[in-house]
Formats: sequence, C-alpha cells, structure tokens
Amino acid sequence: MAVSERIGNGSDAAAELRAAAHRLDAGDALRPVRDRFTLPGDVVYLDGNSLGALPKAVPDRLAHVVAHEWGALGICSWTESGWWEAPERVGELIAPLVGAAPGQVVVGDSTSVNLFKALVAAVRLAGDGRDEVLVDSSAFPTDGYLAEAAVRLTGHRLVPVLPAEVPGRLGPRTAAVLLNHVDYRTGRLHDLPGLTAAVHEAGAYAVWDLCHSAGALPVGLDAHGVDLAVGCTYKYLNGGPGAPAFLYVRAAHQAAFDSPLPGWNSHAEPFGMRSAYTRAEGVTAARVGTPDILSLLALEAALGVWEGVDLAAVRAKSLALTDFFLECVDRYVPPGRLESVTPAAHEERGSQLALRTPLAAALMPRLIARGVVGDFRPPDLLRFGFTPLYVGFADAERAARVLAEELGAVGSTAG
Ligand SMILES: *Cc1c(COP(=O)(O)O)cnc(C)c1O
Repeated sequence: MAVSERIGNGSDAAAELRAAAHRLDAGDALRPVRDRFTLPGDVVYLDGNSLGALPKAVPDRLAHVVAHEWGALGICSWTESGWWEAPERVGELIAPLVGAAPGQVVVGDSTSVNLFKALVAAVRLAGDGRDEVLVDSSAFPTDGYLAEAAVRLTGHRLVPVLPAEVPGRLGPRTAAVLLNHVDYRTGRLHDLPGLTAAVHEAGAYAVWDLCHSAGALPVGLDAHGVDLAVGCTYKYLNGGPGAPAFLYVRAAHQAAFDSPLPGWNSHAEPFGMRSAYTRAEGVTAARVGTPDILSLLALEAALGVWEGVDLAAVRAKSLALTDFFLECVDRYVPPGRLESVTPAAHEERGSQLALRTPLAAALMPRLIARGVVGDFRPPDLLRFGFTPLYVGFADAERAARVLAEELGAVGSTAG
C-alpha cells in the first residue's frame, strides 16, 4: 500500500489524531510554559536535545549586561554586579533540577573540560591500588577522548564497556566508572541508581554525564549517591549556543577533590596573587579561570523558565509526547519503513526518539525544509528531541504526518 493511500484513506486517522492532539494540548498543565520561549515561526522544533530554544527573558537581560554592567560599570561589575560568584550562583539554579542540595554545583567551562576534571578527580579519590577506569563505549565521543587523556595522565588502564556490562566488569581494581545517563544516539535511559550502587559496592567512584537528562527528567544525584557529574546547559537547559557546562561534586568529596586544572579561580584567596596554591573550599575548587560572563548570565536568565515547573510533570509529559509521536508514526507510516531504536519501556527512555531508516540522510533535509526540525546521526538515524517545556502534542502529530509524507516521496524516488 502506498503511503499516500494509507494517509489518504487514513484522513480518518489524521482527523482522529489531530483531535487527540488537541485534547492532549488542552489538558497539558505545562502548556503556558511554552510562552516563555521565542520559537521559530511555524516550525516544529524537535532539536532541543542539541540546542534548546531561546527563552524570552534572555535578549533583554543580555542587552542590559552588555550596556550597563560592562558598558557603564566596567570592571566594577566583578563585585557590584555579582560577576565573580556567578559560577556558584548559577550552579544553585541548576542544583534542584538535578536533585542536588546547595553547594555542590558550579558552572563553567565546557562539558568536555569538566569531564576531564571529574574523571581525574574521581580516580584520585579512589587512591592507589586501583588501576582501572571503566568507560561507557557507547558514550558521546568526547567522553571517550577525554577519558583516554585522563588515564594517560594518571597512569590508569582504560576499559571500554557497555553500560549493561559494567556490573560484570567491576572489581577491586576499578577506580572509577564514567557513564552517560541517556545515550545521545538511541535515547536509551540507563539505570543511574542501580549502576551507581553497583559501582559503590565495588568500592569505586561513579561519574555521570547528564547532557541528555539534565532538564529532561529527574536525576536525583544526592538521593542516588552519585559521586561526580557533568552536563551541558545548551540542550534541555536552553542556555544558548556554547553556554557553559556544570559540574557536580558531592559534598562528602569536596574536601579531597583534587582538580587536574587548579587555575587561580579555584584558589582560596584568588586576589592574594600568591605563588603557593591553596585550594578553595567547597565546589569552588572545581573552577579554573575567568568565567565567560556573557554566556553565563544568558544561562542564568534562561533558567528562569523553570520557575514553578515540576520535574515530575516534565517527565510525565515527555513520556506522553514520545508515546503519542510513536503512535502517530505507527498510524501514518506503513509497517517496516522505520524502526525505533529507542526502548519502548518508559523506564529506559530519555526525552528523544531515534528512528532508523536507510533513507535518513536524504530525509532529514526534506523534513527541515517542511518545518520539522530534528537531526540526522550517521549512518541511518533520525533524531527527534521532545522538550516538554515547549513542544506540544499537535507538534508531534504534524511531525509524524510530514515524516510519513516525505518518507513516501523519498522512497518512491529512491525506488
Ligand atoms: C552534547 C554532549 C557533550 C558535548 O560536550 P561539549 O564539551 O559541550 O561540546 C558531551 N557529552 C555528551 C553525552 C553530550 O551529549
């Protein structure tokens, strides 16, 4: 059966699904939060897992920072405008979103740099006698590169493992384990509580990369005993292109946190300009150099969208949205054309879906041309991120319908 025929005779299906989308949007308690964002006109934006949309408060705040804090106050803003302590202050805004009590999150540098700091610090916490570092081999590539550089510095041995293999590979030699909470390709959510507990049982330290979970679902860093964690702020936290990343150092580990990059911002008395290094107390010890103030303050303004937002509601909507999108795809697309590589089970699903088709590379530009913005990951994946703060059910229905139409068109020209 041709796709057009299926959609055609499924104009019933389309009417039904559109009505369902309308009902779901009308009952969505998070719907008003969408108005806190500037979204591209007439576009279904499903790429918030790569670059979050622009919160409306950011442009005016940035304009004020540039004109007033930088332009008028100049260097006085380091104290008068609170620039110096912005890394810790913005960290406190992220802390509740990842389940951390105050004093454990600092913002600055990229995720890549923070991964390096966290991993080296973790193996130093583990001390002598443990010579292995387990690293998620399905992780985002930068994690693997930095892990390799970290063990080259510390003299440990790198053991690439899939998250499911971690419990079987842990042992008395394991110093630390680096894992991704949600797989950036497949959208699979890994068992952070269970894996962290297994790592601890082996006497090792758990480092989690939260790039695809922070702002998308409850993380519970304190509750699950995570040792160190890092994450992006430009994905589900909407901080803007290149917004600085965050680093979580569990309070219990802060006294012994030994950074491989102890720049002057991590000094106990940075303006003492001493030649001898004395580590600052608390999570400040994880800072390096001068913070990128413009990006950091854009992020601070962006985090205002979370006011009054309950993460449990975000998670519930994320699952409802991805379920509904899959249902629409199932109704609109003939069987066998697309395969979802994202687990169907809710407890194994992040906030994105990845659909596999050999036509993926040709398809995504056509979807974008028709106002459905997702992305393509080689060799054959279409990724669609569902940010519950600004994506609605009508968006999901439209995206699935356009996907089915373009799949039909590409499929027939491809033969
Ligand atoms: C996006 C992403 C990164 C990106 O790191 P940067 O240093 O910010 O470029 C790292 N790890 C994961 C898992 C990611 O998804």
